Amino acid sequence: MVIPLPQPEEISLYFHVPFCKKKCGYCHFFVVKDDKELHESLVQGFIQEIKRAAPILKKRKLVSIYFGGGTPSLLSAMHIETVLNEVTRAIAFSPSDTEITMEFNPESCSKETFHHFKSAGINRASIGIQSFDDALLLSLTREHSAQKGRDAVLASAEAGIDNITIDLMYEIPGQTKKSWDNTLQTATDLPITHLSLYNLTFEEGTSFYRKKSALSLLLPSDEEAKDMLLHAVDHFERENLHRYEISAFAKTGFYSRHNTGYWLGREFFGFGPSAFSYLGGKRLRNTENLKTYLKLCKEGDSPIDFEEELEREGKLRELFTISLRLSQGVAIKEFEERFMPLSQKLMEEVANLEKKEFLRTDGARISLTEKGRLFFNDVASELI
Ligand code: SF4
Repeated sequence: MVIPLPQPEEISLYFHVPFCKKKCGYCHFFVVKDDKELHESLVQGFIQEIKRAAPILKKRKLVSIYFGGGTPSLLSAMHIETVLNEVTRAIAFSPSDTEITMEFNPESCSKETFHHFKSAGINRASIGIQSFDDALLLSLTREHSAQKGRDAVLASAEAGIDNITIDLMYEIPGQTKKSWDNTLQTATDLPITHLSLYNLTFEEGTSFYRKKSALSLLLPSDEEAKDMLLHAVDHFERENLHRYEISAFAKTGFYSRHNTGYWLGREFFGFGPSAFSYLGGKRLRNTENLKTYLKLCKEGDSPIDFEEELEREGKLRELFTISLRLSQGVAIKEFEERFMPLSQKLMEEVANLEKKEFLRTDGARISLTEKGRLFFNDVASELI
C-alpha cells in the first residue's frame, strides 16, 4: 500500500508530557521528575495553547493526536479527557477516524488504566518495552521487567486498545543474539499491530554518555549489530509486520498516521514544554523550561522561544530526504506537484548516490537501497 502525501488542510497535534518517575540512563528527551502537583497546571497550559491555535485549527482537518513524553500515562484519564474536549471545541473531528495515541510505560499500567484512557478517547497505545530480557532492562535502568512488558501489551488489548505499537532496542551493552531472538519472538507472539526498532545511542548530556567508554566495551560489534537488525527485519516480515520506514514495521493498514506526517511534511502543532511545531514552512519550539512554560501559558503569552524558516531549496531538500525514509520512496511527479520541482543540482546528487548504490530509481520513484537504509545518515548529510 502506498501512503498518500498529506493534503494541505491536514494537521496533527502533539502534546509533550515531560514527567517521568526517574530518568533512564540513555534518555535525551526533555524530562523532569514527576510532580503530581504540576499535572493540572500542565493541562491548563495545553488548554491555553489549544485556544491560541484555534483560529488556525478550525480551518483544518485533524488526522492524529499524540501524547508523548516523558510518561503521559502519569496524567489521569480525566486530564486527557479535558484536553481532548478542548481540542473538540477548537476543531471538528471524529474520534473514531482520528488516530489518538498515548505512550505508556509498562510499570505504570494495568488493564484498568488502559480502560480509563480508552474511555477518555485514546485508541492507540505506544508501549515502551525496549527488551524482553530482565538483565538488559536493568542495565538500561528501566523500571519494568520482561513480564510487566508482556502484561502491559495484553492488558491494553484486553481493555480494548488493540492498536498497539511497541519500541524495541538493539545494540545494548551485554546483548547477545540469543537474547535478541527471544525478544523478537516474544514481541511477535503478542497482539501488536506496529513496532519501532532503535539502536542504543549515547547522546551528550545523558549518564550513559558519561560512561560511554566503559559501556562500549560491552556493546555488540558493528557486524553483530547489523546482523541483529537484518535478522529482526526478516523475522518481522515473516510475522506480517512489514517494514514501511527505516525503523518502523506495521501489519497491513496499521502504519502510524502521526509519524508518517513527520516524514511526509504534514503540518503539526506541538504543545507543552520543548515541543516543536511545523507550520507555514516554519519550525517553532516551545521553551524547555517547565516553570517558564507554565508561567507564560498562565499569563496568556506564547511559550514559543525559537523559530526558523528554511529557504526554499533547503526546505525541499529536507522534506525530500526525510520522505526517503519510507520504503515506498519518493514519487517524483507527485512530490513535485504537491511541493515544488526538484532542482537540477539535487537530481545530480541523487544520481551520484545511485552510482554509490545508496539510492535506486524504479520508474518514477526514488528510494533507498538496503545499503542506503543502513547508512541513512550518510545519505542525509549528502542531500541536506
Ligand atoms: S521512560 Fe522514556 S522518556 Fe522517561 S526517562 Fe525513560 S526513556 Fe526517557
